[in-house]
Amino acid sequence: MQTPETNSGLIDPFGRRITYVRVSVTDRCDFRCLYCMSEDMAFLPKSEILSLEELDRVCSAFIDFGVTKLRLTGGEPLVRRNVMSLVRSLARHLGGGKLRELTLTTNASQLAKYADELFALGVRRVNVSLDTLDAGKFTAITRWGKLDQVLEGIAAAKRAGLAVKINAVALKGVNDDEFDRMIRWCGEQGFDLTLIEVMPMGEVGAGARLDQYLPLSTVRAQLSHDWTLEDTDYRSGGPARYATIRETGQRLGFITPLTHNFCESCNRVRLTCTGTLYMCLGQEDAADLRSPVRASDSDEPLRAAIREAISRKPKGHDFVIDRRHAEPAIPRHMNVTGG
Ligand code: SAM
Repeated sequence: MQTPETNSGLIDPFGRRITYVRVSVTDRCDFRCLYCMSEDMAFLPKSEILSLEELDRVCSAFIDFGVTKLRLTGGEPLVRRNVMSLVRSLARHLGGGKLRELTLTTNASQLAKYADELFALGVRRVNVSLDTLDAGKFTAITRWGKLDQVLEGIAAAKRAGLAVKINAVALKGVNDDEFDRMIRWCGEQGFDLTLIEVMPMGEVGAGARLDQYLPLSTVRAQLSHDWTLEDTDYRSGGPARYATIRETGQRLGFITPLTHNFCESCNRVRLTCTGTLYMCLGQEDAADLRSPVRASDSDEPLRAAIREAISRKPKGHDFVIDRRHAEPAIPRHMNVTGG
């Protein structure tokens, strides 16, 4: 049953309507990307992790509050045991007009196994993180990943009918000589491509951030020597600003948390696998939704906690990477909040 408040939705103190929840279903991953995790990460004990049923309850409460888009992420969402049962249960909200989109961000290592079922359940798009098309470099960046397996996963997604968007983190001295190749490959495959500035989250090794950081304003200026980038108003519901590449017909997105702050249009919050709700990726303030879920079979305490959390959503983040800010702005690693 909807309460009167749920009908008016979730509106934060700055008048922004919250319609998008990103859900990190596990902190575990089968890769160890250099900029994301350290090699010897300690993972959370099972007792702290929401069960799939508890995740479903929290997500359903958000949907009841007017959230129309859910994205499962991680860690790697497809390595969580039985994750498809969560997708199956969340998919019941699709089609009824409440949830408009259920999607995933994945490294594609397990996508060959799950692509057909995802499509059958109503998933229509996936974001795949892929920073390079060079097999050696891929293993160097991910520490443990195999490019062939990921390309197979991507091909399976395409065959299954899923629209694929490739997300690549722009890394100075690592993949900055490859953007042309990736644009061409995405053009051939019919994929959009989004470039992301590396964000100062989690300790990943001394000096690493400063070495990795590549402002996308510079990348865009260089790319426009060889490609005709036509600005568009297209928005995918996220922070990316898109241009259409005239030569390939595909879109090129730029996510620029450092060079261009996009908080004024923020419509999202992030739930971790422990039931912690972060109202901003770039701030530490958070709300505990696990306690109200576990304290009562009624959803009312959970709904009250969600409303209270949204009333604290901050205006924005302030990431800076320069010589005076070499430490992480945010101590938690991206696998916790899901990127
Ligand atoms: N395992 C899934 C995947 O690979 O897409 C989902 C989780 S992963 C943490 C989500 C995204 O965050 C990936 O595209 C990854 O490249 C990105 N990411 C991780 N750490 C980052 C950082 N410090 N700055 C920018 N992007 C980061």
